[in-house]
Amino acid sequence: MTTDVAVISLGGTIAMGRRGDDGLAVSLGATDFARLLSERRPDLEVSGVNLAHRDSSELTMDDLAILADEIAHVAAAGVRRVIVTTGTDSLEEIAFGLERVVPDGVTVVVTGAMRSPTLESHDGPANLVAALSVLSSPSRESLGVLVVMNDEIHGADFVRKSHATSASSFTSYPGPLGWVANDEALLVTRPTHRRARLPLPLEETPRVVPLLTTYLGDGGHALRALASTPLDGVVIEAFGSGRLAPGTAEVARELASRLPVVIASRTGAGLLERSTYSAAGSEGRLFAAGVLNAGWLTGVQARLLLELGLRTGATKDLPRLFEQFQT
Ligand code: ASP
Repeated sequence: MTTDVAVISLGGTIAMGRRGDDGLAVSLGATDFARLLSERRPDLEVSGVNLAHRDSSELTMDDLAILADEIAHVAAAGVRRVIVTTGTDSLEEIAFGLERVVPDGVTVVVTGAMRSPTLESHDGPANLVAALSVLSSPSRESLGVLVVMNDEIHGADFVRKSHATSASSFTSYPGPLGWVANDEALLVTRPTHRRARLPLPLEETPRVVPLLTTYLGDGGHALRALASTPLDGVVIEAFGSGRLAPGTAEVARELASRLPVVIASRTGAGLLERSTYSAAGSEGRLFAAGVLNAGWLTGVQARLLLELGLRTGATKDLPRLFEQFQT
């Protein structure tokens, strides 16, 4: 029988069924999720692949590379609908990364659970069934990568985990693309286009691309300390629409002459300005020194894009990659 929907599992709370002496551990996997969905929709052939059994804090960029290859592999075998289950802590990065590389014609829904199966309010099965509802929506057009949590449908580039424990933790700026009701997906809006597409495979060679935040009274100590270590690039979350504290700005400008330095807004939403202010660490002075502008990306997204760009050999194309998030 040909597979209609492939479930790929990485671990996370959605897969945690046991409480050992030192806390919850992963005990469920893709075959359990595939069975649950097949019971719900016996007309569909659902297959399962376990790629990892880990808390999402333990996943790596190499896991993302392996996941992207697996999706390309099932897509090449004709599967057009994929559910990825993973931990919610880094779920937004998994979704944002996949959106760059998943082949056209395939829809991937990433989901997880905020509450473990040991709790009565466990949201894993509901999120899985909602994910399947989205993939079964009649339009059947390819939607790229989506996140479905708590009956809401989010675009991969806009979603973020915005609460530590709430079942409604996943939100989007400017808002979700739709929701699930009566086992059906209502997509009321959609992204204009897929940005910053990158070719597979993603090199499985680790890159050193740290993420820092500027803050009131930031004297630049962290960036100065980093600058004397081997680095492939760095992303700094700037104040508001693009300022760094003077000490950090000075090191950032110097560093930008030898490796990619990117700034994103630490506010988590909105577009950086280009040359509005005259402060010592202003955006205009940073960009004039070659610092890259992450546009409306969050720091976490900008860091991921920079590492993916480096892993796909797009080193010279980095400004063009980031420009796609400035409009
Ligand atoms: N610690 C979990 C994780 O793997 C949290 C979750 O999945 O909700 O990210």
